[in-house]
Amino acid sequence: MTKGVNICNRFLDLVPIYVERWFWLLSISGDSIFARMIQDGFRQQGLRARLVQELRRKEAGNERVWEAMQRVPRHLFLDTSFGQFAYRDVAFPIGAGQTISQPSTVARQTALLGAEPGQRILEVGTGSGYQAAVLAELGVELYSIERQSALYSSTRGLLQQLGYQGIKLFLGDGYEGLPREAPFDGILVTAGAAVLPQELLRQLKVGGLMVVPLGAKVQTMTRIRRLSENDFEQETFGECAFVPMLGGIVRR
Ligand code: SAH
Repeated sequence: MTKGVNICNRFLDLVPIYVERWFWLLSISGDSIFARMIQDGFRQQGLRARLVQELRRKEAGNERVWEAMQRVPRHLFLDTSFGQFAYRDVAFPIGAGQTISQPSTVARQTALLGAEPGQRILEVGTGSGYQAAVLAELGVELYSIERQSALYSSTRGLLQQLGYQGIKLFLGDGYEGLPREAPFDGILVTAGAAVLPQELLRQLKVGGLMVVPLGAKVQTMTRIRRLSENDFEQETFGECAFVPMLGGIVRR
């Protein structure tokens, strides 16, 4: 009797694995949005839920940010051979000497920005597109700039495949921002700026927030609030380590 129950439970345990494998077989036949979607199987969703629990324990983020991160398939933003690292709280190389930020850093920066649905947000440093996808899941109108053309092109393709066509991507120098699209309710810089990018301050709405890792060697997570046309308030949130924010565009 007991044995029968065990066999039944074992069978029920196996069903999701077989369903997932079957979807995988379908998914390797093409690179469509459908294929990408079904590559986010039960296993990855489970690992993601565990990562989100870890972020909650570390108090990195807030409820809205964790919900957004639960929806974004981070493993698809890394090279497939590194997929097993996607749901650990670590930064990872994404090519062109750049990194995808650590999940707890993404959660902290996104929470500090505190963006509301419908707000116009500028991200500097598109990189893998992961932070951009998390912001898009919050329902903001997102503009994102990347200075490396190779990353800009590959990430543009990926975000389209994943259904994030609404994100407006630009190849450019983030120090200059996007004067034609300004002003922004919020600006999120995901590279370490040695000095405060003055042009970005000008592109912030009064009442708007800019979150930026600031400093030459050691960086400090900094949040600037524009109080009026000429007044800004600055808060700091501890040390952090980002790849440097560099000037100019790198063409292939
Ligand atoms: N937000 C990214 C993090 C990428 S790392 C992610 O989620 O993956 C930082 C990125 O900033 C790199 O891709 C780097 O090329 C880019 N970067 C550095 N300086 C820049 C600048 N002045 N303008 C635009 N992008 C810049």
